[in-house]
Amino acid sequence: MIGVVKIGGAEGNKLDFLLSELAKRTSNGEKWVLVHGASGIMDKLCRDRGVEVRMVTSPSGYRSRYVGEKERVLFREAALSYGAKIQNTLANFGAQSKFLDPETTESVFADRKDIIREYSEGRTRILRGNYSGTITSVESGKIIQTLDSGFIPILPPLGLDSSSSLSLNIDGDRLAASVAGAIKADILVILSNIPGLMKDMNDPESLIKNRSDEGSWEKLEDYAAGNMKRKLLACREAFELGVPKIYLADGRVEEPLKNAERGNGTCLTL
Ligand code: ADP
Repeated sequence: MIGVVKIGGAEGNKLDFLLSELAKRTSNGEKWVLVHGASGIMDKLCRDRGVEVRMVTSPSGYRSRYVGEKERVLFREAALSYGAKIQNTLANFGAQSKFLDPETTESVFADRKDIIREYSEGRTRILRGNYSGTITSVESGKIIQTLDSGFIPILPPLGLDSSSSLSLNIDGDRLAASVAGAIKADILVILSNIPGLMKDMNDPESLIKNRSDEGSWEKLEDYAAGNMKRKLLACREAFELGVPKIYLADGRVEEPLKNAERGNGTCLTL
């Protein structure tokens, strides 16, 4: 059994619940890769250093962070410090892990998106000098080797740009999907500070438990706004890469993986 789990960096996610469950499961012989986000820590770091957080909505409705030169350095710092915290906490729970920094392990590559488009008030603007990236490849061999030597691989939302040798900010949800596809994982669980995909964000009772109840991806995408749109895109990519079980579930509960497997989140495979 190989699984990939992604935990967001947003407020509300309970890291300890996931990490203690991961430590227990890996000691029972399961293999899990952990992908993490860094958004919450990045926002805090920006506030502390007096750097404005700039979120941009593209003409197709996807929200992303504008990453200039200053932000690129801060984002790497945020990702590395969150990764170190995860590694220490796993060690406290008795699990060994390895942090796969793309700059030193060349595990994930990305192409820089120098230009991004911003849609606002009926107009599209071009923003240059951006340092986020699109994932181009995941080196599955390095991840599998880490798993086989008994470590939990920890992947930050960073990808190495081979032309500049800089690590770029990449989307954690899409990274988790690419990793799950590349290592042929049996299950992908994307945890966040919500129960799953909901028809009405203010009503937990409106949780969509199964994709088959709704039909097409397009129909599901109609319910999603903001960052949820990108999570669904990631799930769709994982589905197209052949990942057999995909869940969007709650990262704030005890044993969040078991909670997802018991059907208390959104199951996106048919
Ligand atoms: P993370 O940092 O854990 O990746 P995000 O904040 O990026 O989490 O994404 C989850 C957010 O998506 C939720 O907190 C919620 O505000 C938003 N969202 C938008 N539409 C929906 C929906 N239909 N169902 C659930 N969440 C939604």
